[in-house]
Amino acid sequence: MLSVSSFALSFAFSSAFLGALSFAHDGALPSPAAPVQSAGSLAADALAKERAAVERIFAAALVDYDAHRLLGGLLEAAPHRLSGSPGAAKAVEWCRAEFAKLGLDDVRLEKVMVPHWVRGEKNSLQRVGDPRPIPMLALGGSVGTNGPLEAEVVEVRSRDELTKLGERAKGKFLFFNQPMDRTQKGTFPAYGGAVWQRGSGAIEAAKVGAVGALVRSMSLDHDDHPHTGAMRYDDKLPKVPAVAISTNAANALAAELAAGKNPKLRLELSCETLPDVESANVVAELRGRELPDEIVVIGAHLDAWDASPGAHDDGAGCAQVLEAMRILRTLELRPRRTIRAVLFMNEENGLRGGRGYAEAHEKELDRHVFALETDRGGFAPRGIGAVKEMHAGLAPLVALMDPWNCGRLYEGDGGADISPMGPYGVPLGELLPEDARYFDFHHCPADVFAAVDDREVSLGAAAVAATAFLVADHAGTWPRTRIETR
Ligand SMILES: [Zn+2]
Repeated sequence: MLSVSSFALSFAFSSAFLGALSFAHDGALPSPAAPVQSAGSLAADALAKERAAVERIFAAALVDYDAHRLLGGLLEAAPHRLSGSPGAAKAVEWCRAEFAKLGLDDVRLEKVMVPHWVRGEKNSLQRVGDPRPIPMLALGGSVGTNGPLEAEVVEVRSRDELTKLGERAKGKFLFFNQPMDRTQKGTFPAYGGAVWQRGSGAIEAAKVGAVGALVRSMSLDHDDHPHTGAMRYDDKLPKVPAVAISTNAANALAAELAAGKNPKLRLELSCETLPDVESANVVAELRGRELPDEIVVIGAHLDAWDASPGAHDDGAGCAQVLEAMRILRTLELRPRRTIRAVLFMNEENGLRGGRGYAEAHEKELDRHVFALETDRGGFAPRGIGAVKEMHAGLAPLVALMDPWNCGRLYEGDGGADISPMGPYGVPLGELLPEDARYFDFHHCPADVFAAVDDREVSLGAAAVAATAFLVADHAGTWPRTRIETR
């Protein structure tokens, strides 16, 4: 449930005063002798200047496709970036060095402690008596099996079927097989409707006495890729192992059960959770030329699931944030307010980076005027999602991106990493790319560099840069919007 309330943020300067200062985007101080303009002509003039800035931003993003180059660099330096791993540490260092090369202000690491879950060497699922592997990945955070675990299978296809199980799952694997609903109007709502099986499958399995949870992969595709992801335990219940199996494997298993066959499966996992590890969010700034203490955050997450290079999730977002800062720095587009890039650690299995950022910056969150996340893949951007209180101010600015087919404004409440800022009144938003294919790649081994198109990810970088610049440079005030919970 969302509980949203609005309240006005007032600035020390009137918007007319700020408007009179709306000149070069090159960071140069405006001339004090600038003629006073009427409000109407000033607005039109200001919009023309912002349009010119947006055109320069998109041209800079598209000339060399640097967002794609940066993504390639990140994936080469750190192809596996699960929190707490050596790869995650490499990613932190690589991104810090890239920011430093750009000559940004105050490039720094902000330390956070993160969970350290490891998959281990034993990862197998098969039918007893049949050596062929069933495509499977342990869910992140799962306990191991402590040797081979053999049991029969009981299937549920909905929450309703789960409530009617009775004793039938006792001593068996509970198989969650509710597909993502293809008739939903977007793939994210389809994911949202099915992901309870992954998140709380192990808890539900333990409640009915099952020995483990097998979860149909969160994907709309029918293929052989297992898709991992985060899951939870309830400390009051036994912790049973939980794995995702591919959609093809889920269909095959369901067909066997429907035909009255009763296969016994054998699962062996050696995954475990080790002590927390020190890691960091990577931060860099472009200081505002007039209101440097007011901040627009652009963010993405550095970590990715271990079984995938995380090209779309969220290497592309990191590359877009890096590229947005490169473009603004190179073009000397220094807006009124500060733009702060934050590459968050540990979105996937703990959100410690996002929570840590909100805690560490609690005292300045009343001066965070907007936070924008890019974490929906490197596909062609279509627009910006933002809390509705921002729409009146954002609509004419976002519409400047129409020529690149990404000028639509949608209702949205930002991504996971920035969500801990919501209760403090920071308005949240996100880049919204095409979503049709996102869950074909999400959290699975297919999420590789070749799956990301160079022009599409570069257009997204331009949209991030342009949106951040337009919000940070806006002469008026932005509303505050408190999101209590997600
Ligand atoms: Zn992500």
